[in-house]
Amino acid sequence: MIEDRILSIKKELPPRTKLVAVSKFHPVSAIEEAYRAGQRLFGESRPQELKAKAESLPSDIQWHFIGHLQTNKLKMVLPYAALVQSIDSLHLLEAVNEWGEHNGNTISCLLELHLGAEETKQGFTEDEIRDTLRRAGEFGRIRFCGLMGMATHTDEEDLIRQDFAHIRAFKQELEQSHPELEDFTELSIGMSGDWKIALEYGATFVRIGTYIFGPRNY
Ligand SMILES: *Cc1c(COP(=O)(O)O)cnc(C)c1O
Repeated sequence: MIEDRILSIKKELPPRTKLVAVSKFHPVSAIEEAYRAGQRLFGESRPQELKAKAESLPSDIQWHFIGHLQTNKLKMVLPYAALVQSIDSLHLLEAVNEWGEHNGNTISCLLELHLGAEETKQGFTEDEIRDTLRRAGEFGRIRFCGLMGMATHTDEEDLIRQDFAHIRAFKQELEQSHPELEDFTELSIGMSGDWKIALEYGATFVRIGTYIFGPRNY
């Protein structure tokens, strides 16, 4: 089942797009099943859970952190995450950069753009991201790899398309104004309900949980 879903998604992804299998709240056994289907990239949203899974599963798995990250939880996340997709404030970015200085690491990050009508207030505004990238040189331990966004949670496809068009245009603006940021290439958009649409808007990561693993038991 899990295996079939993964293979059916991968068949539809263009070469530039990578599947992040969002395994949050699902047991290690589900991840192992996905692993047997060849999946090596997983997304988690809770620090403790990421750490526990990373320590008990094969080391060739890549973990992306996709949830809200509090600065007192960095040591549970940063040693394990190949990419932090959900940098949503300057305060967090500064703390991650400091952690990198102390530990001699560079941390790959996406900046999360707050999109449209989404109820949560999580994410930067566009102006905050513009300001942050103007100061990118101050963050010597951060690799700025692109943007992440969650489209409005709705059945109205037009609204989803608006959100994706918006974040794609913003990413293009940033690429043009910051040619020096060579790693700023990723666009992480698309979840279980809207990933096929996201492909039309240049997604380089789709983050899919429910469609692969079934409903989560919170
Ligand atoms: C949980 C989560 C997902 C996966 O959502 P599904 O609808 O289950 O595919 C994707 N992105 C983020 C940021 C999430 O928190």
